Amino acid sequence: MHLWSGKVVTVILLLALLLGVLYYYNFQSYRLVVSFEQDQIPPEGGSAANTVITSHELHLVAPNNLQYKQPSIVQGRTDVVTVTPWLAPVVWEGTFNPVLLDSIYTQKNITIAATVFAVGKYIMFLKNFLETAEQHFFVGFKVHIYVFTDRPEEVPKVKMAAGRQLMVHSVPSSRRWQEISARRMELIQTLIEEKLQNDVDYIFCLDVDSKFHGRWGTESLGGLVAVIHPGYYRDDRSKFPYERRPASRAYVAPGQGDFYYCGGAFGGLLQEVHLLAKTCRSNFEADAKEGIEAAWQEESHLNRYMWINKPSKVLSPEYLWQDFKSRNPEVHIIRFSGVVKNYAEIRPNV
Ligand code: UDP
Ligand code: MN
Repeated sequence: MHLWSGKVVTVILLLALLLGVLYYYNFQSYRLVVSFEQDQIPPEGGSAANTVITSHELHLVAPNNLQYKQPSIVQGRTDVVTVTPWLAPVVWEGTFNPVLLDSIYTQKNITIAATVFAVGKYIMFLKNFLETAEQHFFVGFKVHIYVFTDRPEEVPKVKMAAGRQLMVHSVPSSRRWQEISARRMELIQTLIEEKLQNDVDYIFCLDVDSKFHGRWGTESLGGLVAVIHPGYYRDDRSKFPYERRPASRAYVAPGQGDFYYCGGAFGGLLQEVHLLAKTCRSNFEADAKEGIEAAWQEESHLNRYMWINKPSKVLSPEYLWQDFKSRNPEVHIIRFSGVVKNYAEIRPNV
């Protein structure tokens, strides 16, 4: 009898201990949930600073007093596809409200970087590129343009608005255009690692032999942003000039590939573009070690990358047209376009 009641007391004590422990953990996790939820709620209309929301992509706050045209859920562009099969928006004129987007992103106080390479004779394109960027590229936002050139003394003086700056980086000349074009990934990777980490949110990497003709702004912002090449967007994927040799790390097999994207314009959040540049660079170099150069150098590697790592925003060919092409009816506005150039005259090799 005595022994039996001792056992009962032990069991009761153990149970009480267990309940105590359970209660304690329950209480702790409840507190965690509460404090997490409190952190998630930013002050209305205010910024999300000091909260757990750190990505620019996740939280879009519009000013309370903004008036704009009512969006429709049943009417819109029907002549083009405005969303990919993985549900990324495809940006065409008429799919977005620039005033609304600008007011959302103004509150985020973002900085956008752009890289542009002007090596050898390509320096001749820089003035037009920079002057038209002033008129059309993220007007009203903080923009840092990084020029990579072997002729720093020939960089034109272009008047830039407040909050916009030009930075010039010297790079060696090259005797092969393929090398200039391909080394861009390495230089973009290093630039991000060494210079941009703390003061830039988004970055776009653009060809210099082009000009802005229309707005290129906040509608183009996204995690990983690709531009559809104007030359192939109506074609079957079998016609895309992907790298077709399985030996290359840029290989895209028959029956694969979503779109053909431009090497002359891509971008996104700094971290995303860093990963893209790093991956394309290392694949390009590993190929080179085995004596293989992809059909369209870094454009081929970029297309391979985007096949696996789907872009979260796709820009229509409005964002990189070609001056020699007449405008197709679905293209309502040309925002950025490659100028006509004489390859034999400007490239170091043909
Ligand atoms: N590039 C350069 N110097 C050269 C060749 C190329 O600076 O001699 C840079 C320049 O930014 C150019 C980009 O690499 O816009 C891609 O080359 P290109 O425009 O000739 O290729 P395409 O657009 O004709 O395919
Ligand atoms: Mn080009």
